[in-house]
Amino acid sequence: MIYLDHNATTPLDARVLEAMLPYLTQQHGNPSSTHQYGRIARRALDRAREQVAALVGARPEQVVFTSGGTEANHLALPGVLQCETPARLALSAVEHASVSGAAQLLEQRGWQVDVLPVDEQGRVMPDIERHVQADTRLVSVMWANNETGVVQDIPAIAKRVRRYGAMLHTDATQAAGKLALDFAASGAQLLTLSAHKFCGPKGVGALVAERTSLLKPLLQGGTQEKGLRAGTENVAGIVGFGVAAELARGELNERATQWRALRDTLESGLRALNISPFAAEAERLPNTVQFSVPQFEGETLLEKLDQAGFTLSSGSACSSGQIAPSHVLTAMGVARENLRNVLRVSLGANNTAADVDAFCRALSALVQSSRSWCHARAM
Ligand code: PMP
Repeated sequence: MIYLDHNATTPLDARVLEAMLPYLTQQHGNPSSTHQYGRIARRALDRAREQVAALVGARPEQVVFTSGGTEANHLALPGVLQCETPARLALSAVEHASVSGAAQLLEQRGWQVDVLPVDEQGRVMPDIERHVQADTRLVSVMWANNETGVVQDIPAIAKRVRRYGAMLHTDATQAAGKLALDFAASGAQLLTLSAHKFCGPKGVGALVAERTSLLKPLLQGGTQEKGLRAGTENVAGIVGFGVAAELARGELNERATQWRALRDTLESGLRALNISPFAAEAERLPNTVQFSVPQFEGETLLEKLDQAGFTLSSGSACSSGQIAPSHVLTAMGVARENLRNVLRVSLGANNTAADVDAFCRALSALVQSSRSWCHARAM
């Protein structure tokens, strides 16, 4: 099988597993304990906090560990706003469901939620002022989109948002480990991370906050994470997160160069089939290409590729066995016929030129056979 679905999740790096193992076996201490076992675990958390902070140009004390990107997004939105009297917040039309879901919770508590539209390339429109009001407290715009890979200009958006005295939250779950990120220079006040998108373990992430005093805990009953996230820490997971962050930082240029070369090969293979990627003119993540194969008859392209040994997805949520039309592509105004047979290739550290060549050949064979089948049927 050739795995081309790294935006969904990545395999655990063997070096990350090796670093985690002692904390799953001998080093079982609770970081809140004051004895020696506890102190060893506490030191491991401190080290991981430094490694995660370094990945995004933040300070260690700005990192709050969570159970992943979803929880970090919920800590950012309701967490930051829950004590205030309801006002407004704004989020882009292409956010991940964990951001829009958190916003919905606030809506139920009387908050007004405004949606920032995107252009046909998936970029948040420059006229965000039209949607940000004097009482807008928070704006949430993801750094990079999980489906299309479109990268938003976070520093430019932060500048505009600041004029209104609002805070900017950015979900950098897909951007981290694929782009160089500088939280301090970005102008954002809150940033979400998740370890399993860059070869770390699942079930661990972080919210990075300019000032953690801005946050209100979702979970009560413990003093962990400065009282912002009660519950014994996932020590082995956090250690893995730290090592994955350090490796991603050290290998970023190498990985991005490799992905760009593979992406160019893939895109020229697509061009030979008359297929162009979505958001082709926007800046995109180096590992992500999303496209539609409208000329393919039937809804089984993903299945056929799966049978041929290629693991990928459409990129949008799949509910009750049916692929819902992507809210991201819909917000970009993609024509209805191009919402069918959408595929997202998301490359990872282990993909090779041979993988991409094999994928292009398999896709081409499926498209050609579908075309000749259509042709025969029309005769
Ligand atoms: N935000 C984005 C952009 C994502 O792609 C994902 C994962 N699909 C999440 C948030 C949620 O992260 P996690 O799986 O760690 O909860």
